[in-house]
Amino acid sequence: MGQPLHSIDLVNRRFDRGERGHCGIHTPLRMLSFSLFLLALLLLAMPHKSFAGSVTWPTDAEVLSLGPHLEYLVDPTGTLELRDARTSVDAWASVGEETASFGYTSDVYWFRTTLPATAPDASSAFLHIGYPLLDQVDFFELDASSTSPKRTISVGDRKSFNERPHSHRHFLFDVTPSNTAREIYFRVKTTSSMNVPLTISTQATFHTNDDALTMAFGLLFGGMLLMILYNVILYGWTRDTNYLMYCGYAGCLVVFFAAFQGFGFQYLWPRSIFWQEASMVVTISAVVATAMSFNLGFLNIQQELPKLYPLGKTLIALACLTMGSGFILEYSVAILLAFAVLLPACTFAMGTGVYLLKRGFRPARYYVVSWAAVLIGAVLLVLNRAGFLPVNILTDNILLVGATAQLMLLSYALADRINQMKEDKERIQRQALEDQRHAAAELRVALDQAEEASRLKSEFLANISHELRTPLNAIVNLPSGMLSDFDQTPTWSCQSCGAEFQAEDSSDEEPPADYQPDCPECGHPLKHQVEPTFIGKATDQVHFLKRIETSGRHLLGVVNDLLDISKLEAERMQIYPEPFQVFEMLQEVADSLESLAQAKSISLRFPDERLDWTLDADRIKVAQILVNLIGNAIKFTPEKGEIYIRVKPTRLCDEDALGFEVQDTGIGIPKEALDLIFDSFRQVDGSHTRQHQGTGLGLAITQRLVLLHKGTIDVTSEVGSGSTFRFVLPLVQLREERPQPNEESRNHA
Ligand code: ADP
Repeated sequence: MGQPLHSIDLVNRRFDRGERGHCGIHTPLRMLSFSLFLLALLLLAMPHKSFAGSVTWPTDAEVLSLGPHLEYLVDPTGTLELRDARTSVDAWASVGEETASFGYTSDVYWFRTTLPATAPDASSAFLHIGYPLLDQVDFFELDASSTSPKRTISVGDRKSFNERPHSHRHFLFDVTPSNTAREIYFRVKTTSSMNVPLTISTQATFHTNDDALTMAFGLLFGGMLLMILYNVILYGWTRDTNYLMYCGYAGCLVVFFAAFQGFGFQYLWPRSIFWQEASMVVTISAVVATAMSFNLGFLNIQQELPKLYPLGKTLIALACLTMGSGFILEYSVAILLAFAVLLPACTFAMGTGVYLLKRGFRPARYYVVSWAAVLIGAVLLVLNRAGFLPVNILTDNILLVGATAQLMLLSYALADRINQMKEDKERIQRQALEDQRHAAAELRVALDQAEEASRLKSEFLANISHELRTPLNAIVNLPSGMLSDFDQTPTWSCQSCGAEFQAEDSSDEEPPADYQPDCPECGHPLKHQVEPTFIGKATDQVHFLKRIETSGRHLLGVVNDLLDISKLEAERMQIYPEPFQVFEMLQEVADSLESLAQAKSISLRFPDERLDWTLDADRIKVAQILVNLIGNAIKFTPEKGEIYIRVKPTRLCDEDALGFEVQDTGIGIPKEALDLIFDSFRQVDGSHTRQHQGTGLGLAITQRLVLLHKGTIDVTSEVGSGSTFRFVLPLVQLREERPQPNEESRNHA
């Protein structure tokens, strides 16, 4: 008797493990396990009458199991007559069990028992075989002294239901009281399980019990049908095909139980022996197929466990095949095939549920519990059939109870799934709304930035046009001023004698092309030429040429800046580090800026002492950084100002580095502009009327060149007092695989 409790215990432990750390299935699982535990106790405690002594006539309210008083005889050929069976004295054996059960067999079985003589006022009784699937049951009643039967009745589900003496789903044989003992013989032949649960009770007791039982069945079937109806309505409302699958599965379960309990043959197909024969296999297979379809849809196996999906589909196909086999093959073969699909299908359904539950798939919670209910029902039924559990109404119908519980739990699972989908939908909607708001805010920022960028670009375009046009004007216009200092006098010269003549006609018009005068001296043809003669002042010429040169250089500077920034923005600018003497580089920078500073009487203060540092960096670009910063300092410092250039060792990211500082006594930069001046095209004053020339690219280029060296740059400034730009470069550059610099790329810098 410890066996079933142990099984339930194992189930409990398994669920306990599954719940921890996952979706909190404690309550439903614990409740179910506890209820099943109580149920098992109840089952064990429920009274069941068997009597070891001789058969007694039942009193009222008694249902007596005749198993222990039955003898049986196996007739493998199925040829024995009643007479032969009675005379085979040695072949008879005692059943000795509560229920005579011999599994699937093609043998014919004979059973016999003796009913005692009764008082004449005893009530009539029913011999009752509570298993409706037996193909043929022949009943013989004989007086103990007689050789031929007093009564013979032949029933079974190979005969039309209407031929039964009592319209009942089980096999009933009425026996009346008699003052002599009687022998009762049963000849049973069946392709279903040779299961003969024979009881005797008074007819009144039988009807009382049967009415209660029929009502209980009515409630269970009614409950199932209500669940189907409820879910059909839900399907109409949600259009979720899982509800249809559920209804299909529940419908098949109802038909299966109707067939299994004999109600189907009694009420639905009393004349159809063919369907009665096939119904068990067909309905079991249909239950498997629909359960698997429900499993695949409800647990979303295609997405959640795509590798197992084909297996699920295969099981459905196999279940359909065994369904068909129910109509064609011998029952005993077809039912084995159906069970061969049923077992892996149950494993699949339960296994996938438990696995997904462990993975935190919330809909699996009630699904697993529901399957546990039906599987536990099945286990209890097997234990009941195996004799470990007492035979009574509850144990006999435990599978039906489990299945009803399963349908209810599955319906709850579907509702839970809908709730979850609703929650998910709401969460997704909330998230989408949040994302939308976020995106709108980002869009606004992006729009503002785009507008600002567009404004800056327009400003830049205006500035750059100005920056380009001013020197170009000088380059284009100054030469014409210079040319006016030359007098263009046309002359004729003789190639032969070398005589030269000035044209009499002083007009600027060119002579016709075919006009070819001869030399008055030697008669040879004269050659026409126009020779410019300088008539202006040389100092003016030098002034013009200097302006052209300055404009050209300025133009080159602007174009270089444009090229640099476009390269930097396309991330195509590379640095070519090599060790160089910082002091030497500073001197070159000082030389190149000296004249600019002198023009504004600004003193450039470079470090006095000879610095000894070697910097591993792109020398040309470091010089460019310094020229940009010092150039700006000169530009934004009024006349007679001072600019200090300092260099000192420092640390950058725990590495040795060199810090550079350019401090001026210029106009300074307002606080609000400090963060912006390193952006491309940014100028503190970007208006047309601004005082200082420039494109707004210098600091953007400078900052990016510093960053290319893995350095840092910052600025402090006070309006009216001056600005200090500092940048730090690591002493040594990390070498990466770089293409070798070509001439063009170096020349540009
Ligand atoms: P620009 O070619 O206009 O000088 P930069 O990128 O070099 O462009 O400089 C951006 C802006 O930063 C300048 O227009 C100027 O307003 C400000 N700026 C840069 N350096 C200084 C400085 N040393 N003193 C004051 N303002 C400066």
